[in-house]
Amino acid sequence: TEKDRVDPALIDDYSRKHFPLCMRTMHEVLRSTHHLKHHSRVEYGLFLKGIGLLYDDAMTFWKQELTKTADGDKKFEREYSYCVRYNYGKAGKAVNWTPYSCNKIITSNVGPGEHHGCPFRHWDAAILKQKLGEHGIGAEGIIPILDLAKGGHYQIACTKYFECTHNQPPVMTINHPNQYFEESVNLSKD
Ligand code: SF4
Repeated sequence: TEKDRVDPALIDDYSRKHFPLCMRTMHEVLRSTHHLKHHSRVEYGLFLKGIGLLYDDAMTFWKQELTKTADGDKKFEREYSYCVRYNYGKAGKAVNWTPYSCNKIITSNVGPGEHHGCPFRHWDAAILKQKLGEHGIGAEGIIPILDLAKGGHYQIACTKYFECTHNQPPVMTINHPNQYFEESVNLSKD
């Protein structure tokens, strides 16, 4: 079935209410620095496509942010716009790529200055703890989430994060960022 189109103007609000921590993080980095490295643009771009951001809207969305820096215009034409076309199967191998699963994100390599990856797997415990607090989670949630992350149970930690931020658990253990999004949106429709 055809996905409902997501209004790009709602993305900021959705990022706070419905995005998993991995995607919310990339969104916030993009908004604050007007830049994301290649792997993040692919990963976050495919997630946005998965929630219903159409091709033309995606081009506008990325262009608005990425051209805010000094050499952004040139880079957008030369490099960044290709990434948007690629994500939507309009360049390169012309594959209609699907958004990455948690497993793929968790097992990816994240280098310095990169923001893709799973926060429960790739972040320092101290940074994770701080972010959880900023997102309104109390000690009764932070402690088990940090334990789960430390024990390598990243998706269960994410499921607990969902529970703490929605006052109820998701229907299924989180295994895909777009599943997280859909479960969160469904709750807000009740
Ligand atoms: Fe994102 Fe999946 Fe990690 Fe949750 S478990 S933060 S959805 S990669």
